[in-house]
Amino acid sequence: MPEELNKLARKYALQNAVEYGGKANPGSVIGQIMAAAHDYRSRANEVTEVVASVISDVNSMNLEAQRAELERLAPELLEKKKIEKIHELPELEGAENGVVMRFAPGPTGPLHIGHTRAAILNDEYVKRYGGKYIIRLEDTNPPTILPEAYDLITKDLDWLGIEYHEVVNQSSRFKIYYEYAEKLLQGGFAYVCTCPPDDWRTLKEDKKPCPHRSLEPNIHLDLWEKMLVGEFKPGEISLVVKTDLEHPNPAVRDFVALRLVDEPHPLTGDEFRVYPLYNFSVAIDDHLMEMSHVLRGKDHLNNTLRQEYIYEHMGWKKPVFIHYGWVSIEDTELSTRKIKASIEEGKYTGWNDVRLGTIAALARRGIRSEAIRQYWIEVGIKSVDIKFSWQNLYAYNKGIIDPVAKRYFFVWNPKKVTIKGENIIKSHAPLHPEKSELGNREVILSGDPIEIQVVSEDVEPLSPGTRIRFKDLCNSTSETPVVFNYAGNDLSFVKEGAKIIHWVGPDAVPAKVHMPDGKIIDGLAEKAASDSISEIVQFERFGFVKLEKGNEIEAYFAHK
Ligand code: GLU
Repeated sequence: MPEELNKLARKYALQNAVEYGGKANPGSVIGQIMAAAHDYRSRANEVTEVVASVISDVNSMNLEAQRAELERLAPELLEKKKIEKIHELPELEGAENGVVMRFAPGPTGPLHIGHTRAAILNDEYVKRYGGKYIIRLEDTNPPTILPEAYDLITKDLDWLGIEYHEVVNQSSRFKIYYEYAEKLLQGGFAYVCTCPPDDWRTLKEDKKPCPHRSLEPNIHLDLWEKMLVGEFKPGEISLVVKTDLEHPNPAVRDFVALRLVDEPHPLTGDEFRVYPLYNFSVAIDDHLMEMSHVLRGKDHLNNTLRQEYIYEHMGWKKPVFIHYGWVSIEDTELSTRKIKASIEEGKYTGWNDVRLGTIAALARRGIRSEAIRQYWIEVGIKSVDIKFSWQNLYAYNKGIIDPVAKRYFFVWNPKKVTIKGENIIKSHAPLHPEKSELGNREVILSGDPIEIQVVSEDVEPLSPGTRIRFKDLCNSTSETPVVFNYAGNDLSFVKEGAKIIHWVGPDAVPAKVHMPDGKIIDGLAEKAASDSISEIVQFERFGFVKLEKGNEIEAYFAHK
């Protein structure tokens, strides 16, 4: 009964597809049908035809739909353990009525992969609970600021799909910081200190107060006034927040909150000389901007402890602080200071040099922002320390681009070979093996003999009589490593053990692949690849790349 065959084919095709990420393989489905009942063996042609049509239908469905149908038709074939778990971030305490969260990079350079964890996880939570997402540029250390970074950062955030509601520069809030500095002085929670910095630090290490600490608030307010109007030079005076001199952790004992800086600021010039330090401005801003949750790395634990003193002095309600584990990102230069210096020396071509871990470099290579997002959601907000895995990021990226990336041939280390015995051969290669709607790359080769180029290693060494299939072109047997005899175009040739290699015709265009380690691989790409400039494509048997137009095709390598 054809209907029965159809049903059987559908069940096995669905099972195979669910098991292999959405794509069923005809060979295994046919094998299962043959094994199911003897009489199918004698109906091999019919089986092959039915399977081909069922698979083309099943493979056009998404994984969710395949799984759902399999569950209905043959739940016994649905192996629970193979079902991918969809990871979700844990709930946040006290978030039911919405959240206010922030991402607070320093504008020292554009964003890199390390920044994306905080940027994306905050975004995920604001999207989940509703509320407000503030981007706060912490630009209160003039020597480290890269003026272009203000724009580069928002551009990177847009590319990452971050939905922020406001962008605030801390440098626009000096007056606010001064106002709260004064309040802390008035309350006796801070002091102005003119001790030589080393003396002050030594005393603190010994849990001892400096001579200024216990003076009356009005003396401090006087000094503060003098600090503001320019009666001191950098290093001579600072405003210190009192914590607990007995605190077992010396890092938490009294900390400097404001100091003098003479270097002009790229946005405010020399209008202000009294600059807040990180822990002070962050606590003031987080409170005034009404943060409900502060999500930050464990490396900020001591900072959180310091900042909590400001909340206590001021009688403010604290946000929920969440500290996730440290991520070490190896083999990638992330220091903006070092990258900037290397760009200036000409060692890197720019912030999007593909050797870098910047967002601009990853985007250029064809890494999709959704892959980065999936990666961090999977890692979550646990406090364990982890090593960043480029391989996992690439696996997510492949899951996104493989179903859509067009396929082209790229021949590295090219070698000319000839095919004898046929003067015109038409090649018909799908742009995507599972998406016939994308169409084909058609090439007509002619000549006596026909000349193509292949990857040298594919034909060296090659003993005479070896069966080679030139993918989507024809079969052949080798006479020498560079001379082949045409052997038709029947696909059963492959089943008989022919090696499949790819090739390019005489109209191939020069292409350069820029690898993330800085190497450049020169070769030839089939002409049709020029139709996909600025797309992410797969160079078959080589890997996924993003194409750019240069004098020739410039390709930037993403991953295998
Ligand atoms: N500028 C800090 C950073 O990027 C902000 C962290 C925080 O306060 O949570 O690490």
